[in-house]
Amino acid sequence: LQKKFPVHGSFGKLFGTKTYVNAVTNVSFRLYPGETYGLVGESGSGKSTTGRAILGLTPPTSGQVLYQDQDLAKMSGNELRKFRKDIQFVFQDPFSSLNPRKRIGPILEEPLLIHKMGNKEQRREQVFRILDIVGLQPEHYFRYPHEFSGGQRQRVGLARALIMNPKIIICDEPVSALDVSIQSQILNILKGLQKELRLTLLFITHDISVVRYISDRIGIMYLGTIVEEALTDDLFQQPLHPYTQALFSAVPDFTRNRLSERVILKGEIPSPLSPPTGCVFHTRCPYATDICKAEVPILREVKPQQRVACHLVTSS
Ligand code: SF4
Ligand code: MG
Repeated sequence: LQKKFPVHGSFGKLFGTKTYVNAVTNVSFRLYPGETYGLVGESGSGKSTTGRAILGLTPPTSGQVLYQDQDLAKMSGNELRKFRKDIQFVFQDPFSSLNPRKRIGPILEEPLLIHKMGNKEQRREQVFRILDIVGLQPEHYFRYPHEFSGGQRQRVGLARALIMNPKIIICDEPVSALDVSIQSQILNILKGLQKELRLTLLFITHDISVVRYISDRIGIMYLGTIVEEALTDDLFQQPLHPYTQALFSAVPDFTRNRLSERVILKGEIPSPLSPPTGCVFHTRCPYATDICKAEVPILREVKPQQRVACHLVTSS
């Protein structure tokens, strides 16, 4: 999956036009029903872009997004409507998109109305049911967006995603703006919901502790590509890609009982405008050799269910 996005600001001005850059290249992964897939990376690694591409908000310039074996780009109007019902999104701040002059109840009812679901009474019932599921009270139905605290806001964000009975929820940094204690409340609600409703979650975050807690499988992104993918336990047991190792070594909790040393990466993340040739990580990798500059390493399975994109890592 590859996509290009316009770069505004200084670069756009520099060239007097929009400049296009590959934000995400060769990203390929599957979401299985009922699992939580965590997509981790630093800012600018292409996580959000990937999430947006799945939703069809920024269609890929090449490659496909398949939903139940159907190409998103080739769906008919009806199929697309079903897709938009089945897949919902939770953002970091769900309130930036809410009408401040409307009460929460009617806001939550809106998508049901748009999709012509149920009658007035049934729609109201559904809203009260969802408010209860996310741990809000019936009286919250009548409150305005500004009357909610940070944690409650994200509960409303979840409620908004859940109102259509989706199959998949894409969560983009849903707890990053919240206090740690509130974070765990929201994560626990998500976990509970996922089990109860057999939801599939794509969980996008830069926070390694959060992703470890919530995910069944994890994909590690660096500069627009997935460099490693594995089941959560396997990945933390034995991270194989040099970038993953460096990323994990920066979190003291995960290395306390291990012999591994903190890996300090040299330099900054290169600009996505001019990504390095070969392995995107070669400018910072402690193990880089000549082949790393010349050839793009393919993401391939080196252990059961563990895929790594590195010339040095071979299957055992
Ligand atoms: Fe490092 Fe080379 Fe592996 Fe890239 S391919 S991670 S540069 S060793
Ligand atoms: Mg982002």
